Amino acid sequence: MSSAPATTKDGLHPRNRFRTRYDFPRLVSSHPTLGRFVKDNGHGELSIDYADPQAVKALNAALLKDAYGLAHWDLPPGFLCPPIPGRSDYIHHLADLIGERRGPAVRVLDVGTGANCIYPLIGASEYGWSFVGAEVDSAALRWAKRQATANASVAGLIECRQQTSAAQCFKGIIKAGERFDLTMCNPPFHASAAEAAAGTRRKVGNLGGKQTGTLNFAGKAGELWCEGGELAFIRRMIAESVDYALNVGWFTTLVSKSEHLPKLEKALRQAKAAEVRVLEMAQGQKKSRALAWRFERS
Ligand code: SAH
Repeated sequence: MSSAPATTKDGLHPRNRFRTRYDFPRLVSSHPTLGRFVKDNGHGELSIDYADPQAVKALNAALLKDAYGLAHWDLPPGFLCPPIPGRSDYIHHLADLIGERRGPAVRVLDVGTGANCIYPLIGASEYGWSFVGAEVDSAALRWAKRQATANASVAGLIECRQQTSAAQCFKGIIKAGERFDLTMCNPPFHASAAEAAAGTRRKVGNLGGKQTGTLNFAGKAGELWCEGGELAFIRRMIAESVDYALNVGWFTTLVSKSEHLPKLEKALRQAKAAEVRVLEMAQGQKKSRALAWRFERS
């Protein structure tokens, strides 16, 4: 059993409500299904087996219900089951970027919202923002819609739209004259299905879990890889963003590999971005970052 993800939370954003150790008895009372996965981790602490996808799914459902009253979050087997503390952190850093503005007038586009629809659910719950979740995979889109409509507190704040081309981020989604304060993205970061599978095996190995194919944080092929990997995906996004400079306040995306930053910053200089920022995030030893850019005030 591994308890690492629940205990190494140093570095999370100060407003991240998942910073402190999980109160498992309270979570189980919110979401009793979690109960059968909670065990003593051998150090006198309650935890779950983070390599067990069913356990992680039950934990996520409990956290979303306990923190936000989102009682209807579910995923079919095999879809990306997101670690909630890290996903929340991106939302809070975006809030800082726009001066902590709250309410439905703040509009956010989530490129690749996934079956889990996690950013709209957290962003709408924490800050009351309105979201458009774009998704290229129609099965994932159906699930995203379901997460949104099943939860009354956010249903009016989340709209899901089908992207018809994996090569496009904004085209086909942002309508003429439509305005977003922010765009965000957790891009598919592997360059091939084989690379994605190797990454999953490594991650599960680190968690001490069995290697059984699709696992806990893992995901379906299309969630994890795209032609050319993360670098090519974000380069395409930057190139496309130029055409949407007047529609969007800040464009942002996670960048999983720090060595990609200099190349992406170069692409942003070439695209004549007016301002570029790197939002540094950390969860214990694990560092991550979002790249943010904007063109001009409109
Ligand atoms: N936001 C979720 C899912 C990320 S996985 C999370 O953080 O857990 C990346 C998602 O992007 C997948 O669901 C994949 O189908 C989708 N995707 C890939 N290319 C896309 C594109 N060009 N436009 C919209 N969605 C895309």
